Amino acid sequence: APGLYFVATPIGTARDITLRALDVLASADVIAAEDTRSLRRLMEIHGVPLGGRRLLSYHDHSGGGARARLLAALAAGQSVAYASEAGMPLIADPGYDLGRAAAEAGFMVTAAPGPSAALTALVLAGLPTDAFFFAGFLPSQAAARRARAEELREVPGTLVFYESPKRIAACLADLGAVLGGDREAVMCRELTKKFEEVRRGTLASLAGDLSGAAPKGEIVLLVDRARSETVSETDIESDLLAALETQSVRDA
Ligand code: SAM
Repeated sequence: APGLYFVATPIGTARDITLRALDVLASADVIAAEDTRSLRRLMEIHGVPLGGRRLLSYHDHSGGGARARLLAALAAGQSVAYASEAGMPLIADPGYDLGRAAAEAGFMVTAAPGPSAALTALVLAGLPTDAFFFAGFLPSQAAARRARAEELREVPGTLVFYESPKRIAACLADLGAVLGGDREAVMCRELTKKFEEVRRGTLASLAGDLSGAAPKGEIVLLVDRARSETVSETDIESDLLAALETQSVRDA
């Protein structure tokens, strides 16, 4: 059917692609990718022929021209598949401007969903999953990074960050300084790949573990929400009253 199809691709292991994603790639009239070479390679691995179709390069800042071409294909009643370099498009990846423009123009927008590093890390970390906040990449400048951490301090959920191995040490240090070094934190590295690692600790202990060489590979950092350690006197009082009340009801 005509419309825009966001296609998820693996975050490491090539076989982590859905059968439907392969169907969409096999049948779309137009295929666009953030990285045409890696998508071409993935299609080769899974035996999806490109045939005579066009494989266009698109990312949100590639300019209006590339987007206009894809929108024109949609207007001509074609199906357009879009994949970013890894994982779900739009999640710390391009595709947002394209999806928004397509939706505003009234075209069907759908997805062949698949792996994403954020959700994979959350599932493995052992931190609460009832509420979480995807914070993407922190700013690269220390002052801006600390200001952002300040904004995130009271978020009532697990914080999920993407980080590069080059910056992870600085990121742990700044988060520790703002959120407190004793906050529980988990570093997930190389998910779905050969050297997958989940390291649990606190912001301070993880920073300490890294004091040697910078880690290798791709990293998701998760940080527990703020825990209120101080219990107020009125809290204790009302808990006590409630307990006494239950007791007297039982005794009556
Ligand atoms: N769209 C992707 C997704 O859905 O997860 C994310 C793309 S973003 C440009 C790349 C970042 O995602 C990496 O720097 C890293 O923080 C995280 N990431 C991607 N693959 C990963 C993996 N296999 N293990 C750990 N983190 C990963």
